Amino acid sequence: MLIDVSPPPAGARNPAATALMRILVVEDEPRLLRSLAKALREAGYAVDTADAGDEGLHKATTYDYDAVVLDVMLPNLDGWQLLEKLREEKQTPVLMLTARDASRDRVRGLDTGADDYLTKPFDLDELLARLRAIIRRSAGQAKSAIQLGNVTLDTRARSVTRDGEAVTLTAREYAILEYLALHRGEVVSRTTLYEHLFDETDDTLSNLVDVHVFSIRKKLGADVIATRRGQGYCVE
Ligand code: CA
Repeated sequence: MLIDVSPPPAGARNPAATALMRILVVEDEPRLLRSLAKALREAGYAVDTADAGDEGLHKATTYDYDAVVLDVMLPNLDGWQLLEKLREEKQTPVLMLTARDASRDRVRGLDTGADDYLTKPFDLDELLARLRAIIRRSAGQAKSAIQLGNVTLDTRARSVTRDGEAVTLTAREYAILEYLALHRGEVVSRTTLYEHLFDETDDTLSNLVDVHVFSIRKKLGADVIATRRGQGYCVE
């Protein structure tokens, strides 16, 4: 399997510090699964993995992933069956990995409710770009810039400006702000934030979310994130 593993962007070298969103990768080929998970972590995602269809379905329905990377040919339950069952419950964005030149697969995937597909072997940069796109689309956000009053997030560069002036957020602060911005108007619980910022290999549990929110408010203004007492946080 050819995978073009490009170096991660500057500032994204420490996976623990840059986890942006939580992704599930379902792939039965051990080497591809490992390299995909590694590359996605280097790109800043929290990554869970499954090497069989039934395990993938269990995780995809149990946890609230931001996206699923789903291979078609899988043991126990294939990618189509997994997707069909997943769609009975959830609209999690799904990027299918199909065999080369299997155009019927693509049509079937899109009909079944896949959000996009990629033909093996694929370029890793393209996979990352498509993942970002389906995550943005699923959040109803087609553009890469998100405007929150006088604060602007550039989701491609992962940078923030306030009144046009660059503000430096830590990777974790940025991840929290972007997640809230993509779920604008919704109250997001601390538990949900933890679930999206830490993956199953991460056993960090602390009140860090509160500390980061405090710091974000100091940098961007107290009103950028509202606290809903006993419920969580909200970006209006
Ligand atoms: Ca496979």
